[in-house]
Amino acid sequence: MSTISDKPPVALPQELLFQNYTPIPRINLQTVVDNWPEDQVVTWENQVKETIEHNRTVYLHNQEIIDRWLSIFKATGHNPIGSRGGVASWYKEALTALGKPTGIPVSCASDCYSNQTVVLAGQRYDSPMKITGHSPYTLLEVVQKARGIIQHAMETAQKNKTLEARLLGLAPSLNINPSAFSSTSDFLSAISGAAKTRWVESNYPTGTAMDFDGCEYCSEWAVGERRCSCGNRRVSLCVDGDPVIGFHAYPEPH
Ligand SMILES: [Zn+2]
Repeated sequence: MSTISDKPPVALPQELLFQNYTPIPRINLQTVVDNWPEDQVVTWENQVKETIEHNRTVYLHNQEIIDRWLSIFKATGHNPIGSRGGVASWYKEALTALGKPTGIPVSCASDCYSNQTVVLAGQRYDSPMKITGHSPYTLLEVVQKARGIIQHAMETAQKNKTLEARLLGLAPSLNINPSAFSSTSDFLSAISGAAKTRWVESNYPTGTAMDFDGCEYCSEWAVGERRCSCGNRRVSLCVDGDPVIGFHAYPEPH
């Protein structure tokens, strides 16, 4: 006596077969920022776009297949739709057994990132959104923004290093003793202040006449004076810069 399971399986016709979704490849954002060349980023994004497009087609196809199976079920006297509790569980199981994929990936967004936290130049960023500050965004934009942050931090660190070395070199000639300070930053700012004072004393000694455009009645101010030459405006000397980029002084009205 033969049973159903003894019979050789019959291949289902093409119009009753579900298609599988292609999973979107997941990436580690930190790895991408640290290691991927830009053309690899672009290639990945293009693949994701193609995959999303493919999955949309698969979704539409599978909707048609579900309709065909429903017709078959109904024709054989089964009516899974409309029964108590919605779709009967045997129907769901049947579809699953037939290879109906679960889940419908329709967009990439942040789901593509296996880890959304990235550390850039010692600063932790919770998500790509916080790096870009706008949406929608591409992975390339995220990566470029992240690399800009790293680059800026490196340049700032290099500038500070150069300035620090210059300040330390000036300390002996300014007679500033490091042992008088409890922290390096206090020591450095004391040197910086002394360097600025010395620069002003040698370039703008008291009595130096300077052009002044902050007064409507006169156009001159002398370093050390509290007011412009006509007495209308209060003025002081403002000094920008540091020992590396150089100093710049100008009269500032108050
Ligand atoms: Zn004046």
